[in-house]
Amino acid sequence: MIKETFTIEQLSEGFFELFEDGTIQKMDPKRLENPLDDPNLGKYSSALGIDPLLITNGEENIVVDPGLGWGLDHNSKYENTSNAVTNLKIFGLRPEDIHHVILSHLHFDHAAGSTFVNDKFETTATFPNATYYLHKEEWEYALSQIGRSPDLIGADYRLDELYKLVAEDRIKFLEEDNFTVIPGIEIIKTAGHTPGHTIVRIEDSEKTAYFMGDLIPTEFHLNRPSHPQTVLDSAQAHQAKKLILRKAYQEKAIMYFYHSLYKKTGQLTIDEKRRYILKK
Ligand SMILES: [Zn+2]
Repeated sequence: MIKETFTIEQLSEGFFELFEDGTIQKMDPKRLENPLDDPNLGKYSSALGIDPLLITNGEENIVVDPGLGWGLDHNSKYENTSNAVTNLKIFGLRPEDIHHVILSHLHFDHAAGSTFVNDKFETTATFPNATYYLHKEEWEYALSQIGRSPDLIGADYRLDELYKLVAEDRIKFLEEDNFTVIPGIEIIKTAGHTPGHTIVRIEDSEKTAYFMGDLIPTEFHLNRPSHPQTVLDSAQAHQAKKLILRKAYQEKAIMYFYHSLYKKTGQLTIDEKRRYILKK
């Protein structure tokens, strides 16, 4: 049993609209109040939340998937936006205070906030004192996709900035299926969505929690498969999801979703129809 307790917070960047060509736009959350009255929603685009995670035990601070990072770049056109830096401030933390950054995979909507362009126009690590953790198979797959159009909707790899992190030796490439960052924080390879996709399991003396990445992007996907155009290996994703959900249910785990619009977190339970739901 792990003694220390972790505080887990979602660093929400807000709501976005992802279009079929992969472009992404900030979305007015009011549109979510009456989604059925909004004929364009779901037709040409999908609405999604972006919710990186902050995990801390008071000594070690961990960010999981640093988000889009809008507004971080020098002279960014995105003003008054929320990103990893503005959101850490709410919890009294600076990017310098982050020790570990876990990247579930390298799609830009999860990994772009890893770096920013500074006022000398240099690509810079957003978290200068952190080790970034990434599965080796994700990196190898991303490299194999250079010069090809994205295999999945909205799934661009934008590697130029990430090369900088590699050159500066900030990325630890994981080769194993399970990796312990610090006691209680475990990175688990699930593959499926992408070949090197990982999730994070958090355990302390009081609770177990999971960050699901794109394996289960929203609460809506607990009982439904992801759209085939958003998963590289559906059979693997299905298998991994089944195993993780069974375990998480037994552990009475709290689930954290990265792309939810409505319910972003909650304790996993089962209803009378044997469907997974989040406890209120
Ligand atoms: Zn993805």
